[in-house]
Amino acid sequence: MMKKDSLVHPDSGYPELFSAEQLGETPLILAQKAAEEEARRGRMETLRFMSFGSGSSGNCSYIGDDRSGFLIDAGIEGAVVENALKKEGIPMTHVKGILLTHDHGDHVRYVYSLLRNHRHLLVYCTPRVLNGMLRRHSMSRRVKDYHRAIYKEFEFTIGNFTITPFEVMHDGSDNCGFHIRHGETTMAVATDLGCISERVEHYFTGVNFMVLESNYDRQMLLTGSYPDYLKARIEHDNGHLDNQVSAAFVARKWHPGLRYVFLCHLSNDNNTPTKALEAHHQSVTAANPNLRIGAGDRENLTDLEIIALPRFEPTPLYFLRKKNLT
Ligand SMILES: [Zn+2]
Ligand SMILES: [Zn+2]
Repeated sequence: MMKKDSLVHPDSGYPELFSAEQLGETPLILAQKAAEEEARRGRMETLRFMSFGSGSSGNCSYIGDDRSGFLIDAGIEGAVVENALKKEGIPMTHVKGILLTHDHGDHVRYVYSLLRNHRHLLVYCTPRVLNGMLRRHSMSRRVKDYHRAIYKEFEFTIGNFTITPFEVMHDGSDNCGFHIRHGETTMAVATDLGCISERVEHYFTGVNFMVLESNYDRQMLLTGSYPDYLKARIEHDNGHLDNQVSAAFVARKWHPGLRYVFLCHLSNDNNTPTKALEAHHQSVTAANPNLRIGAGDRENLTDLEIIALPRFEPTPLYFLRKKNLT
């Protein structure tokens, strides 16, 4: 019987018969495909960060990738969050949930209205934060229908993000910081903390991006008009973080892969963005004199970007990329 066809199989030792050109994959097309793949991976690996307000008047920020993300805290009106994200081309359907750090009003005030207007959202917080929130604030108990219980030291996932809540010292109920992993990239968030505890020390080690409280300038606090009991509450280990403590911590945690530091929860009465930034610049450069520090200008990135988050206005959307250290 005659052989039906005489096509050469690619494994037959005649690979030239099936060259890239014959298959329509010219070297140019292959190069284009590789570039597209790299760009796609770059888009995927780039994190988006935006703050909608930071401080005792209200806190809320967004962290996401090219397909989904989540909010941290809900102390800013939903309409402000929605509009700011929309301007950057991020629809609320990308937002999968709200993580709560603790139950103080400046972090939870708008939880229920956000849930009512965007019913696909889930609230991720520890059971004690949920109970504290329901006890302290006049909030509908229906918030429980959207609740996903999380526990300190136990990781959970949202989209491509793996999140580990950890203990921070503060005077709310069951206060959490968050360690966030996305592929090879890591980020740590801690707001409203009176001191750098061992868990904070641990979870901020080796991260690429930080969001950290830098609440007050000690001199301004001590000479300011606050009553003594309030000064004592702020200074307490369960209170808020001093610029100098935050700055020394950032300097200690600096490593070549650290790219962005966002200073949050700056006091209106006992701090200024200039003082918070100065403290951090001094502390980081004292340990690393040649380090170039920038302010997050997209066109002109330096070795380390340190940004003081504004109290009331939304920030631009920051595209956080890991530094290529090779
Ligand atoms: Zn707060
Ligand atoms: Zn608080």
